[in-house]
Amino acid sequence: MIAPDGRIVSASGAAPSPRIEFAAPLHDEAGKLRGALAAQSSWAWVANLIAERLPRNSAGEAPQVFIVNQNNTPLFPPGTPDQAGMPTPLSGPGYQQGDWADGETYLYADAKIDDAPGPGWRVIVRQAPPQAPATLSRLRSALSLPGWIVTLLLMAVVYRLAAAFCRPLETLAHTAQRVSAGDEQADWSLRSGARELQQLAQAMQQMTATLLTRRGELAAINASLEQKVEERTEALSEAKRQLEERATQLEQLARSDALTGLGNRMAAAERLTAEYQRFHRSRAPYSVLLLDTDHFKRVNDNHGHAVGDQVLQQIAAALQGAARTTDFAARYGGEEFLLLLPDTDAEGALVLAERVRAAVSAASNTVAGMVTVSIGAATAHDDDASHETIVQRADEALYRAKANGRNRVEGAG
Ligand code: GH3
Ligand code: MG
Ligand code: MG
Repeated sequence: MIAPDGRIVSASGAAPSPRIEFAAPLHDEAGKLRGALAAQSSWAWVANLIAERLPRNSAGEAPQVFIVNQNNTPLFPPGTPDQAGMPTPLSGPGYQQGDWADGETYLYADAKIDDAPGPGWRVIVRQAPPQAPATLSRLRSALSLPGWIVTLLLMAVVYRLAAAFCRPLETLAHTAQRVSAGDEQADWSLRSGARELQQLAQAMQQMTATLLTRRGELAAINASLEQKVEERTEALSEAKRQLEERATQLEQLARSDALTGLGNRMAAAERLTAEYQRFHRSRAPYSVLLLDTDHFKRVNDNHGHAVGDQVLQQIAAALQGAARTTDFAARYGGEEFLLLLPDTDAEGALVLAERVRAAVSAASNTVAGMVTVSIGAATAHDDDASHETIVQRADEALYRAKANGRNRVEGAG
């Protein structure tokens, strides 16, 4: 309990009192500011701390203790009036005897609470008259010690009080720095310090444990999320790959003839256009063969449509067998075929056409017997207006082949 004049009467049973807050910056090993540690306590706790550490005389009386801020305004004991007339700081270690605002003469000493940059608080200890002179003379006479020993004693008391405030907080700040640096084993327990600080240390220990547990849980959740993301990404890229494969297949299907597996008319149109453009760039000649199955209607009529289909497949196979790998074969109509021959002049086209014709007639069908084709050949000219012009010439040549008896080749030049 604290008397109105600042004397600490007892350390227990303190009534509710104003709070005192401590705060210290937390720096990491590189000296970078990482945060702050703050603690709050009551002035009753301060009173307790002081009462525990003050020496008492034989009558059980202790000196009076004050704490003032940098403006010399009294902070402790709570309720000390601002006009109490706290003495200005002493210029150095030692004690002084002087008159205070209450008109009394005291023997007093003071010390800053902390040398480091801080709030600039001071602890002032005084002995009220008539004790001071008596105590002093008693000290002088009994011990015969010079005055500076008394000073040292008072200073020791003051410094012990100041250290008692700071040491547990320094310990907590140091532990907080270790935790912020990643030390999971940091021990918050305090060997000394007031009950409030011990409670604060316990709370910090529990908070650290909880945070570490949460961090572990978060890490586990994170790992499982990463795994899921990885799985989803894999599934997505697999789906994308399948989609692209399917798109390629569809593209191929859209350009191929279902019955014979050759290119269809659309594919033929694309290749003819591309070849015509290439011809105008490179001037390398190319030729086109148009084939029409001879009397195919009879095959259908005599042996049925299925045999007719089979014959068309056989013609397609013979066509591909006779053509070169660089040539392009397509089913151009019902029983008509087209062969595009890159890098082939008119003479070469006639040679290849004859080879194809012979190959088809040689591939006799088991039911329908021998089936033949008539072939019209045409080669690109510089003055051809479009790729269709060449096909048209090949078609005219084909017409002549039919007119001249079928199973033969006619060139359009
Ligand atoms: P030509 O020698 O003058 O060409 O006589 P052709 O009988 O071959 O002539 P035409 O054009 O009269 O007959 C072609 C026939 O081909 C008619 C049609 O039914 C048949 N055909 C067309 N496409 C197919 C097909 O996909 N399968 C079958 N089996 N027959 C088809
Ligand atoms: Mg026809
Ligand atoms: Mg025909």
